[in-house]
Amino acid sequence: MGRCTVRLGSRFAGGVHPMPPPPPNDQQADKVFRAWLDWVNRNGIVDLAAMCAASRSKQVAFQRQKVASGKSTWGNGSCFAVVEVLRHRNGRWEVVQKPGWSQYEFAPEGKVHAERSAISQAYSEIGGNIEAVTRIYVELAPCTRRAINQHDTCDTWLATIAPNATVMYSHDYSNAGIAEWKKLNEAMAKEPEIYQFITTFANAGNARLSHDGSYVSWQGDDTRAKYHETARILMGLLENQMNIVVPLAAAARVDN
Ligand SMILES: [Zn+2]
Repeated sequence: MGRCTVRLGSRFAGGVHPMPPPPPNDQQADKVFRAWLDWVNRNGIVDLAAMCAASRSKQVAFQRQKVASGKSTWGNGSCFAVVEVLRHRNGRWEVVQKPGWSQYEFAPEGKVHAERSAISQAYSEIGGNIEAVTRIYVELAPCTRRAINQHDTCDTWLATIAPNATVMYSHDYSNAGIAEWKKLNEAMAKEPEIYQFITTFANAGNARLSHDGSYVSWQGDDTRAKYHETARILMGLLENQMNIVVPLAAAARVDN
């Protein structure tokens, strides 16, 4: 298993940590990693945190329209996630991302934690030929204690379904972390859908495996991505960040 877990500094930008290095002597993981690296160096690395924030913003606006009172409360208790996979289509590899959330009513398991819901939504929307899960972003850290209608913890479950992936999150799965997460959800629900004109969260740059194969680094070379300004506004306004920087360098190393 080559899993890498990263806590991000912001909910709105920075989900650009690469895939972890493949474990030694694992040909399948190596094949997936090489295909992912090739794709990212041609098409850019997608900021999964920013994509997740856009997904929350869009869903909250959509659900608010359905509520006659116009109350902006939907989604404050629903956790959002984005899953990235490598798939094979038309004789080529491609990397795709899909968002999901924990209160998704069509999930086969019912209302479960966001990463499970996101992965099941992604699998149904992508429609087969998935080779591997490469990266995941989830607002709350994967749980290490079992939720009511799940037969295992998300941490255990992810180790099975995404054994060689980078898992990013913004809030710890503790009482304090959950309180911080809800407070930010409430603040965000009052904001208009400001990501709506942004069509891509991809960042150009260069991802590479270190010589000793122990870590993967990514260095961005384009600071003009359209979503950066939106992310900066939200970081300042909702997270009260004093030093607002959209990261353009990130790394992944396998968890010990
Ligand atoms: Zn969970």
